[in-house]
Amino acid sequence: MVIIASSNGDVGIDAAWAILEQGGTALDAVEAAARLVEDNPEDHTVGYGGYPNLLGEVELDASIMDGTTLRAGAIGALRGYRHPITVARKVMEELPHVFLVGEGAARFAAELGMPREELLTDVAANVWREGLNGKLPEHFRDRSGQLIKSMLRQATHIATDPERAAGTVNFIAQDQKGRIASAVSTSGWAWKYPGRLGDTPVIGAGNYADDRFGAAACTGWGELAIRASTARSVVLYLQIGYTLEAACQTAFADLLAFVSDPAQTIMSMVALARHGNHYTISTAPERTYIYRADGMDTFATLPRVFVEPSRLTASSQTA
Ligand code: ASP
Repeated sequence: MVIIASSNGDVGIDAAWAILEQGGTALDAVEAAARLVEDNPEDHTVGYGGYPNLLGEVELDASIMDGTTLRAGAIGALRGYRHPITVARKVMEELPHVFLVGEGAARFAAELGMPREELLTDVAANVWREGLNGKLPEHFRDRSGQLIKSMLRQATHIATDPERAAGTVNFIAQDQKGRIASAVSTSGWAWKYPGRLGDTPVIGAGNYADDRFGAAACTGWGELAIRASTARSVVLYLQIGYTLEAACQTAFADLLAFVSDPAQTIMSMVALARHGNHYTISTAPERTYIYRADGMDTFATLPRVFVEPSRLTASSQTA
């Protein structure tokens, strides 16, 4: 049994481990863990209490993948429901679809009987207001001080705060039967244009799992991972015989190859190979992840491999 997660998964990893220990599935473990992070109001990057879009609306993205069957479910821009990971799982299990967004996603959550609630906490609302006030010139506001709606497209460029843009939770688990599942959940890029989706709900970009080879999940600048199909690339590189390290390094080289601005290259990833070995990587220094495997009494917080974006080159190392 193994679980790896981004460090903000610390509030969920014990629950996931308990499920695995009792013989539960990797899929149940990663969903349960992600739900606990979605519940955490202090985590402003995931679920309830997440930072909102430019209009002050919290829009949540999540996806889940079952590496045994390659079934997947994803939810984008969900408003009013704090557990997109469970809605994503239900899409996978109850609908002939993979991906629901916006109003359709909210409709489905309501149909599932989930309680509708305001996800914007006072703390997140204050940070959002102060962020906009501090960054946007006065002419972006009308007489009552509200952001002028027709200026959102310009505001998106100015209001983005790299300090706050980042954050997502990743969980990858392998259960006693060797099944692998992955769950990713986020409130996305803070102050994003309404309706913006990152890599989190895009299967193949921010999340991918396949028992035969392994799994990968991303945090960071989602637009990059979408453009380079990062999580799926890792699994595909494993399939063609790369070591896990080479697969991750090469997937990162792929996505960084078309980026010229290093400020835009913040990407992190956790990955697991089918034999249970793992690898984590980040283009930001001093990033950590959490990990627990058989024989450990509790989870460990460990440093990620740091790669300078400029040092990444495509590798062809094979296993
Ligand atoms: N990857 C997420 C997104 O682009 C956010 C993050 O992890 O920083 O929405």
